[in-house]
Amino acid sequence: MSRLTRADLAALPAYVPGRSVADLARELGIDEAIKLASNEVPFGPLPGVPEAVAAAMTQSHRYPDMGVLELRDRLADRYGVSADRIVTGCGSVALAEHLAKATCLPGDEIVYSWRSFEAYPIIAATAAATAVRVPNRADHGHDLDAMAAAITDRTRLVLVCNPNNPTGTSLRRDELAAFLDAVPGNVLVVLDEAYREFVTDPDVPDGLDAFGDRPNVVVLRTLSKAWGLAGLRIGYLAAQPEVAGAVRKVITPFSTNGLAQVAALAALKADDEMRRRAALIVAERERVGSSLRAWWPDVPPTQANFVWLPLADRATEFAAACEAAGVIVRAFAGDGVRVTIGTPEENDIFLTAAEKYRVG
Ligand code: PMP
Repeated sequence: MSRLTRADLAALPAYVPGRSVADLARELGIDEAIKLASNEVPFGPLPGVPEAVAAAMTQSHRYPDMGVLELRDRLADRYGVSADRIVTGCGSVALAEHLAKATCLPGDEIVYSWRSFEAYPIIAATAAATAVRVPNRADHGHDLDAMAAAITDRTRLVLVCNPNNPTGTSLRRDELAAFLDAVPGNVLVVLDEAYREFVTDPDVPDGLDAFGDRPNVVVLRTLSKAWGLAGLRIGYLAAQPEVAGAVRKVITPFSTNGLAQVAALAALKADDEMRRRAALIVAERERVGSSLRAWWPDVPPTQANFVWLPLADRATEFAAACEAAGVIVRAFAGDGVRVTIGTPEENDIFLTAAEKYRVG
């Protein structure tokens, strides 16, 4: 039979969503399982969001505002940039895809560290770009010197994930500044800051404040994590107007849907509550992290809402042990396990399962 789709896609790993809680609860015959696998925040939508979405439903037979004008203005005000620098999309992952489309022709190179966000290889492959993976350092962080050295005259895009998913490691201001100085001006650098709201270390820079004015820097953020809108799919980027304009050209029309737009506006109004919730997660992150480090000292420090257990060839077995205790975590076979920080009760159940696994 002749081939209907691209042959190279056969070798592409599929994006793996966290397992469903309903599925695990059914398998174990329990009322509720706990999902600590997708880096969501466990507290439900922010106040005002459900009402805003319900009200907007009366207009769901109409196309949304394709220019996303009100939300872009709000984000522009919030971050002190002009609205022509902001682009929104169907999750920040879609914006990363659009950036690859807007920069790469087939055979151009996208540099990223590995292990990092699992969408990066998929984004490179679907743009028919060549993925150049630079191994993380022994401390699980990006190796910025090696990333700079990996840039060639075919490189169009560099993806920097700060804090890094799934290892939680973060880059400091000085090292990031030195790296950006080393990158040629015709290469676009994406600072993927999906977890920015959980960062508490003052040396870990806000990419937009620190580097947003550089012509070849794009800052990517999401409303899926701290802002609690993962299910509505909305993220944004800030770039120089020419780059933002190019991204807007390749975007799927109307892909920032109307409910996501009103939900984002409502969520941004609940800024104080977002911060309060993020602080609860940070406190739990420190508690869970210190328990885990007592058992596995090589658990790296994390600035995100998850923690990385570098369990290597025990990763899958550990995740299975957690699932048997009703907790879904995210294993990366042969490498490690990423555990999202949940409520204190959820984290306690996870810690009990982890300790049981450790003592065997
Ligand atoms: N970047 C990173 C580093 C992520 O971890 C995620 C979500 N897992 C995203 C981007 C995408 O988030 P979303 O598409 O939900 O905005």
